Amino acid sequence: MAVLTGAGVSAESGIPTFRGAGGLWEGFRPEELATPAAYARDPEKVWRWYAMRYTQVMAAEPNPAHLRLAELEQRKGDGFLLVTQNVDGLHLRAGSRRVVELHGSITRARCERCGHRQPLPPPDAFTPPPVCERCGGRMRPDVVWFGEFLDAELLARAERAFMTAEVALVIGTSAVVEPAASLGRAAKASGAYLIEINPEPTPLTPLADLSLRTSASEGLKTLLPTGS
Ligand code: NAD
Ligand code: ZN
Repeated sequence: MAVLTGAGVSAESGIPTFRGAGGLWEGFRPEELATPAAYARDPEKVWRWYAMRYTQVMAAEPNPAHLRLAELEQRKGDGFLLVTQNVDGLHLRAGSRRVVELHGSITRARCERCGHRQPLPPPDAFTPPPVCERCGGRMRPDVVWFGEFLDAELLARAERAFMTAEVALVIGTSAVVEPAASLGRAAKASGAYLIEINPEPTPLTPLADLSLRTSASEGLKTLLPTGS
C-alpha cells in the first residue's frame, strides 16, 4: 500500500495550505519566497519566513489523520510507504517511520558548503541563519524549492512503491505539483485501486476508483474504522 499526502492533511492541525486562505506572508506568495533566486537575493528574508513557519509547525500537533496513518503503517508493515509533499514534520511526530519527505523538511537545515543536515534548535532558541556544526558553513532550509530537482533516490523509492502498490491512497493534495502528482496516475496505470480523499475535486478525481469528498480525518475514519 502506498500513500501520498499533501498540505490538506495538515490543514486540520491549523497549518495553512498554499492555495487556500492565509497563503500569503507580508504580501508575498510562496512562489516568490521558496526559490533559489529569492534566497540568493535576500537570504535573511527567506529565513524569516521559514523561521515563522517552523515556529507555527512546532506549535501545532499531529491531527487524527496523521495518527491514523501511523497506525496503518503498524498494521501493514513492510509493504507500506507514506510519501508526503509536506515539509512540516508532522507525520514523523505522529509516529510514522516508513516516510519519504519528498520536499524535505522545514525542521532541518542543510549546509550550503558540505551538505550536512541538522535539526533546527527549538523555535525559541533559534536565530537564523543556522551555522553548520561540521564545517561552520552557512545553512539553508532543507527543503526543495520551486525550480529545484527532487532527490532522485527518494523519488525512485516513491515511484517504486506507487507502481507496485495494490492500493494507492492520495490525501489532501491538489495534485497539480509534479512529479508527485503523477504518482497516483502511475499507480492506477499499474493496476492499483486508487482512493482519493479531498474535500475538493482534483485532476486525479476522474481516475479514482473511490473518491471521498471530505476532510483527511473524516475520510480516514470512514476507510479505517478503529480496530478494523
Ligand atoms: P495545495 O495547497 O496545493 O493543496 C491542498 C489540497 O488540500 C487542496 O486540494 C485542498 O482541497 C485539500 N484540502 C484542504 N483541506 C483539507 C482537509 N481538511 N483534508 C483533506 N484535504 C484538504 O497543497 P499540495 O498539493 O500539498 O502542494 C503544495 C506544496 O506546498 C507542496 O509541495 C508542499 O511541499 C508545500 N506546502 C506544505 C505544507 C505543509 O508542510 N503542511 C503547507 C503548505 C504548502
Ligand atoms: Zn557544513
